[in-house]
Amino acid sequence: MTSTCSPVTLQEIKAAREAISGVVRTTPVERSRSLSDLAGSPVYLKLEHTQVTGSFKLRGATNAVMQLDEKQRAKGVVGVSTGNHGRGLAHAAKEAGVRCIICMSKLVPEVKVEAIRAYGAEVCIVGMSQDEAQEEVDRLVAEEGMTMIPPFDHRHVIAGQGTLGLELAEQLEDLEAVLVPLSGGGLIAGVAAAVKAVRPHIRVIGITMERGAAMHECLKAGKPVHVQELATLADSLGGGIGLNNRLTFQMTRDLVDETLLVSENEIAAAIRHVYWQERQVVEGSGSVGVAALLAGKINVMGPVAAILSGENIDMNQHHRIISGEDVDVTKEGG
Ligand SMILES: *Cc1c(COP(=O)(O)O)cnc(C)c1O
Repeated sequence: MTSTCSPVTLQEIKAAREAISGVVRTTPVERSRSLSDLAGSPVYLKLEHTQVTGSFKLRGATNAVMQLDEKQRAKGVVGVSTGNHGRGLAHAAKEAGVRCIICMSKLVPEVKVEAIRAYGAEVCIVGMSQDEAQEEVDRLVAEEGMTMIPPFDHRHVIAGQGTLGLELAEQLEDLEAVLVPLSGGGLIAGVAAAVKAVRPHIRVIGITMERGAAMHECLKAGKPVHVQELATLADSLGGGIGLNNRLTFQMTRDLVDETLLVSENEIAAAIRHVYWQERQVVEGSGSVGVAALLAGKINVMGPVAAILSGENIDMNQHHRIISGEDVDVTKEGG
């Protein structure tokens, strides 16, 4: 591993932008009339859910694959994510002509397995838990010499996600604050490193669901701690930050102005709002910035941008939510 603990720099983010430009799309920014009226100040939406593979995760995964040396490229990459990182990594590897294996447990639903396969990765199904899938990844790294690409705590991944911040700062010259969905912190660490380097006064606000707000709890504790994962509409924001976190915890602590939480009802209201008012299909995790705005949790002073970070929602669930049904995932197991 080449990672050290020094924070990711603007230079690394600019280099990432060069490296990923052939694979990653520059996503549009649009002014939201309804949210601007509500906030009494311009509100913009960064339509990153329209990114190739349906989320920003492609940026970090592509940069990580592009930074591999010849020997590493020849052996291939491996990951454990069944969600947006898995899709991004699979596509990034395919574009680079690099072998990719995504390991997952037998409990992962068939639709998710197929989604990963459709992006061209080999799927290896092992054991009955995420931990057993991780053991297989460790074996592939140790015995086959493959390179594991983690979803957030990796400097090339963070630099890749940071390209979104650079892009946003260029698209909105009067930007005052950016609302960033927050889980492991790869996105917010990269975005904060980028925007604070080019315009230090821009406020960076991390937004997470109340149910299993890992980074928020770790910041409160002053160190990485275990936080129980719970079922939530913002399922891409689940999971811990890792007790041996090397980069995203300290970068988030040092660069991010504030983190705040939204409830399941607020997330559902945001999914509905972005569908009916903005005509966009956005997953729960991608809607948390809008959720915070609608709930009046953001003190808006000047132009603010919310990052719509992903679109990968079960369309049956989406249909039920936008139809006004009370979809309570907290009762559906977990
Ligand atoms: C992964 C993900 C996030 C959170 O990103 P982190 O780097 O883990 O903080 C937010 N939104 C979506 C759609 C994601 O897939």
